[in-house]
Amino acid sequence: MNDKPIYVTEPYLPPLDEFIPYLEQIWASKKLTNNGPMHRQLEAELRDYLGVPEIALFNNGTIALLTALQALRISGEVITTPFSFVATGHSLLWNGITPVFVDIDPQTFNLDPEKVEAAITPRTTAIMPVHCYGNPCDVAAIQEIADTYNLKVIYDAAHAFGVEDEGGSILRHGDLSAISFHATKVFNTFEGGAIVCPDAKTKRHIDNLKNFGIVNETTVVASGINGKMSEINAAFGLLQLKHIHQAIEKRRLIDGRYRTGLDRIKGIRLPKPVGQCVENYAYFPVIIEDDYPLSRDALYHILKQADIHARRYFYPLINDHSVYRGVSRSDGVENAKAISERVLCLPVFTELPLEAVDFIVSVIGMGAR
Ligand SMILES: *Cc1c(COP(=O)(O)O)cnc(C)c1O
Repeated sequence: MNDKPIYVTEPYLPPLDEFIPYLEQIWASKKLTNNGPMHRQLEAELRDYLGVPEIALFNNGTIALLTALQALRISGEVITTPFSFVATGHSLLWNGITPVFVDIDPQTFNLDPEKVEAAITPRTTAIMPVHCYGNPCDVAAIQEIADTYNLKVIYDAAHAFGVEDEGGSILRHGDLSAISFHATKVFNTFEGGAIVCPDAKTKRHIDNLKNFGIVNETTVVASGINGKMSEINAAFGLLQLKHIHQAIEKRRLIDGRYRTGLDRIKGIRLPKPVGQCVENYAYFPVIIEDDYPLSRDALYHILKQADIHARRYFYPLINDHSVYRGVSRSDGVENAKAISERVLCLPVFTELPLEAVDFIVSVIGMGAR
């Protein structure tokens, strides 16, 4: 038995004494926000680390999504996935856009490109896919549809920090990608996020939008928002980045340990990674199939009794929340529905001991007997 609760995630915090020098610099400079030195340095370091052309930091991933939609002047209807965190859909509603939920592929949990075309109407302006759990979408198929119908593509890449396909960062696809640095994500700045964009001109536009549309003392070019990341968050990001390699490496070991342990338990399906060359091990989803003796919810409660707090990401589907009634459309989302009723995300975070993984596996194994 574990001596303290095991949550689905726990933020990675580098040693506190390593953070103090950053604070001393901030105190000395008296620059707390508005594109200060920490902010500029984090943008430069993330550009290098991720291998992306341009990145604009934000105070969180949701404001990054909202701003990405504003930057491309998206309106009307946007095709997206119901199998995601509510912020994906909310960002559309906050822009007065109608979300059109299309089904997912039951193997990758990502928007099924084959089903996108049928949902396109004259009001469709964009597609907003999610790299769910950090698994890359079928970016080529999505781009082909977008090109055919003259649609924009905005990726909700909140889960996809550091993920690469054979061409490099997964964040380089589409018109824009929004990412989250929330405390629960692989790379965190307490709260934070960013938009990855293809060129300096687009970055300038996005930087204006995140600072009220202000370009100089007397000129405001857009009704922008306050989406700026503070110096303290940026400083923490710089420190976090120093540790990110080993933090992800630890996740890889945990992922491997789960796979070995769960592989022989009947009725537990482990999704195979597809389409990536570099993974980030952000989540560990399992699907509870019919030949497992317990339902997903029964297993969820058994784990909870053992103080293991797995999470039903993503349940309910976004379109099933009452606030989406009458303001969205859902075109036959059967796969998403089935997966959301069977999925369980098991704990995975840098400091989760491998013995805890073994214990979680054993509880799941006992449920199978
Ligand atoms: C975390 C998350 C967001 C929102 O990011 P915040 O930084 O928490 O605002 C958006 N979409 C998805 C899929 C997420 O998981």
